[in-house]
Amino acid sequence: MSFLEVREVVKRFGANEVLRGINLSVEEHQVVCLIGPSGCGKSTLLRCINGLEEIQSGEIRLHGDRISGPGVDLNALRREVGIVFQSFNLFPHMTVLQNITLAPTQVLRVPEEEARERAMALLRRIGLEHKAQAYPDQLSGGQQQRVAIVRALAMEPMLLLLDEITSALDPELVSEVLNLLRELAEEGMTMLLATHEMGFAKEVADKVCFLYGGVVHEEGPPEEIFKNPKSERTQQFLRSII
Ligand code: ADP
Ligand code: MG
Repeated sequence: MSFLEVREVVKRFGANEVLRGINLSVEEHQVVCLIGPSGCGKSTLLRCINGLEEIQSGEIRLHGDRISGPGVDLNALRREVGIVFQSFNLFPHMTVLQNITLAPTQVLRVPEEEARERAMALLRRIGLEHKAQAYPDQLSGGQQQRVAIVRALAMEPMLLLLDEITSALDPELVSEVLNLLRELAEEGMTMLLATHEMGFAKEVADKVCFLYGGVVHEEGPPEEIFKNPKSERTQQFLRSII
């Protein structure tokens, strides 16, 4: 069994069946990229994996444990699976440091002092220790997004979900965020990301999954998907984004 297993997952919003039997797996230490046209369900799938959306049928397993359906401990799930959104979602009324220490102190009950030290180490790592007492709106978009990533890392998740985290950034700020992801990938962080950054996907992903029509329409190593896509739909999509 794979580290993350998504099996035949169906998700409807009213009559709109967005996910129609998704099958997808991620091995430990892998980076898997989800690509596909806007509205194909990338965000919905990530939200289902993190328990932010209920699924109608199918099953999701992490490390062998069922993480979808009745009886799942959502708090435990969210300790193990971190998610970072397109729109940063830092708490605007808290300092950068408070943003990072909040969940570890409140959820993991890490002592305040220890949480602060760990947060400062994370900020040092991304070169933002001097911003510890700043508020999110005093940071650039790229800095905010890097803080959002280390805020997720502060929980030491076993899986990190990233939902188009560079889409809202000015072009010149994208690389600082992708560089951080590259480092995390090298360190073996298991990541599933929805992205439009095909260059990044080509370089870093172990596997690329093309979502279309509510299913994983085609998947494979990036060199295959980008150079030799089998399906006409995949070819069309790839043509449309260059
Ligand atoms: P993507 O991230 O690939 O652009 P989404 O997962 O955001 O796609 O959306 C997939 C479909 O699900 C869209 O048709 C969208 O309108 C619908 N959808 C997403 N979230 C909701 C929601 N909370 N309520 C109703 N429909 C939703
Ligand atoms: Mg989306």
